[in-house]
Amino acid sequence: MPVSNNDKPVRAKDRFIVFGAPVIGDREIEEVVASMKSGWLGTGPKVAQFEQDMKSYKEVQYAVAVNSCTAALHLSILAAGIKPGDEVITTPLTFCATVNAIIHAGATPVMADVDPVTMNLDPQRVREKITPKTRAVVPVHFAGYPCDMDSLCAIAAQHDLKIIEDCAHAIETESQGRTAGTFGDFGCMSFYVTKNVVTGEGGMVITNDEEHAARLKVLALHGMSKDAWKRFSDDGFKHYQVVEAGFKYNMMDLQAAIGIHQLAKVDDLWVRRQEIWAQYDEAFQGLPLGLPATIGEGDRHSYHLYTVLVDEAKTGLDRDSFLNAMTAQGIGVGVHYLSLPEHEFYRKTYGWKTEDVPHATRIGRQTVSLPLSAKLTDEDVNDVISAVKKVLGQ
Ligand SMILES: *Cc1c(COP(=O)(O)O)cnc(C)c1O
Repeated sequence: MPVSNNDKPVRAKDRFIVFGAPVIGDREIEEVVASMKSGWLGTGPKVAQFEQDMKSYKEVQYAVAVNSCTAALHLSILAAGIKPGDEVITTPLTFCATVNAIIHAGATPVMADVDPVTMNLDPQRVREKITPKTRAVVPVHFAGYPCDMDSLCAIAAQHDLKIIEDCAHAIETESQGRTAGTFGDFGCMSFYVTKNVVTGEGGMVITNDEEHAARLKVLALHGMSKDAWKRFSDDGFKHYQVVEAGFKYNMMDLQAAIGIHQLAKVDDLWVRRQEIWAQYDEAFQGLPLGLPATIGEGDRHSYHLYTVLVDEAKTGLDRDSFLNAMTAQGIGVGVHYLSLPEHEFYRKTYGWKTEDVPHATRIGRQTVSLPLSAKLTDEDVNDVISAVKKVLGQ
């Protein structure tokens, strides 16, 4: 047994490293305070500014801020014209929100297995799942590793499918110099507390299609005609028309106040996470762990999640014991993700089986996400490395 219970943990209890800590600076705090003092808490000038900043960062024509990535995905699928009964292909190795958004839109989710190395949708498996009802594909740039967008876009073009990219992990991700979220029709981002840019809760859709952007805006605010957003300005009273039954998905200025300053330092935070990533890679060479795939030439990883695979046959330790042992060492860990058919709801409702997606299922049963945040000090990183070695008995 690799770990003895009597061992002193690497970190004292009061120095526990939380998994995925956000980096909040004085600028974010001051901007939130400024919003509070202005009295303008809801959707207003700061949301507009955050959208502008994101458009510049992603070099895209339209950006629509909403209150989560789940909302961003839901609205994008609707704006893509997906109707009840349509099939939408996605990955089983994702957060449940990806597939729930497909379900909320009334469509039928269909799983295609991942590539065992990149952990992203395998285009060949996608091809096999296409039926006359297939209308869209929702790829997830898992952990920040770019999907094979060339192949997925070729499949979409051939079968007239829409692509909605789940970029919750992938704000900084690029493939052959092109930024994630601009290959397909829509790119959806998350600013949830553990993501690379945070607003507490929050999300955004980017697109280069004017009509799509207009529909997203209407859907995000009760289905009110697009002039309704002008209600949030002070140039005179405006009546609005409800043109369809929309949702209440708009972002608040209080959230955008944080996001503006988070986005301003997104590349600085990325550089720090890249350093940590390289330290992990070096320290874990030679350990009996599966390590993240190296990135292709001309691609950019977002370094959102550093995941290792714990194969009991090699480590003598199963994944859940590894998780518990790391926690006992004072290190916060995560699991991204149990494959979706591990959840009874999806098995019962869609007849999904873990055997149908063997790669995602094996990864989901072996994977452990280690702390990866620009907030980690060198000492923190060394403690994570020591804890991993100790838990493995090295
Ligand atoms: C976090 C996450 C989401 C959901 O984002 P929210 O902003 O919390 O709604 C969707 N997809 C993936 C892959 C995620 O990691």
